[in-house]
Amino acid sequence: MLISIVIPCYNEQEVIQEAHSRLVAVLNNLNLEFELVYVDDGSQDRTVEILREIQYDNERVKVIFLSRNFGHQMAVTAGLDHTSGDAVVLIDADLQDPPEIIKDMIFQWFQGYDVVYGVRTDRQGETAFKLWSAKAFYRVMNYMSDVTIPIDTGDFRLIDRRVVEALKMMPERDRFLRGMVSWVGFHQIAIPYQRSPRLAGVSKYPLFKMIRFAADGILSFSLVPLRLATWAGLSTVTLSVIGIFYALFVRLFTLSWVPGWTLSFIAILFVGGTQLVFLGVIGEYIGRIYREDKHRPLYLVREKLGFLQK
Ligand code: UDP
Ligand code: MG
Repeated sequence: MLISIVIPCYNEQEVIQEAHSRLVAVLNNLNLEFELVYVDDGSQDRTVEILREIQYDNERVKVIFLSRNFGHQMAVTAGLDHTSGDAVVLIDADLQDPPEIIKDMIFQWFQGYDVVYGVRTDRQGETAFKLWSAKAFYRVMNYMSDVTIPIDTGDFRLIDRRVVEALKMMPERDRFLRGMVSWVGFHQIAIPYQRSPRLAGVSKYPLFKMIRFAADGILSFSLVPLRLATWAGLSTVTLSVIGIFYALFVRLFTLSWVPGWTLSFIAILFVGGTQLVFLGVIGEYIGRIYREDKHRPLYLVREKLGFLQK
């Protein structure tokens, strides 16, 4: 049995060494073969050198250096593609997810589960806004999308080789891994854990990136925004028909047909507004189709360390 650990790192010079020691300590206790696959996501700080040193000292460490910053989800994807374990654990470099939980995850995996995902019961060191927005996001996401994503999960999870192979068959560009893992099915189980504050360094997910990530989640798994356009269109049309009959009635059967600019004004604004909004929504999807259709690689590797064949 081989366990692979995938650790995406982007400017994590403050935490990487410590994270590595804790991981190795946990894994050495398991009496299982393991490999650590670090993915450097185009870091500009000392992360690169530190990873080289770590790899130099330990033959069970593999490192993939991406050619630039491709983002967390792509870094994890690159890591997954380069694992050979029977099970793969995804974990962040900042020790927000305690490596000690890996042991419980492996236990559940032995019980026959293919996906063991961490559920955060408690998130220390996060702003009230982040907690609130995350909660709201999972609600909306589950309400709108075809797959149910368990509330309060992150990417900290163990997945069986079969699931890894399934994920590899999903070449989509706008990657929302936790949604994709829900989508593939198999036997899944939750493990509750407490999410700690970051050990050091700063979060690489500022508000703007969070919003984009949330949009990826919803747009990749749901056509509800498009359907909303249809429904909004239908109700507007219904209202317009009533309005037209009303206008005709007033014009033909009464004498009080003062040229009413108010109504036309409101109507133009309303229709124009809804049209623009939903043009935007349609544009989002078309943009995604366009991006998919280029079939570019998801990430590019600059260098690999510790792999048998380069
Ligand atoms: N990360 C990455 N590429 C990025 C941003 C983040 O590989 O463009 C890594 C980062 O090094 C960390 C993990 O993804 O190991 C999670 O990032 P972070 O802790 O900043 O996110 P948060 O926990 O604040 O949501
Ligand atoms: Mg973090």
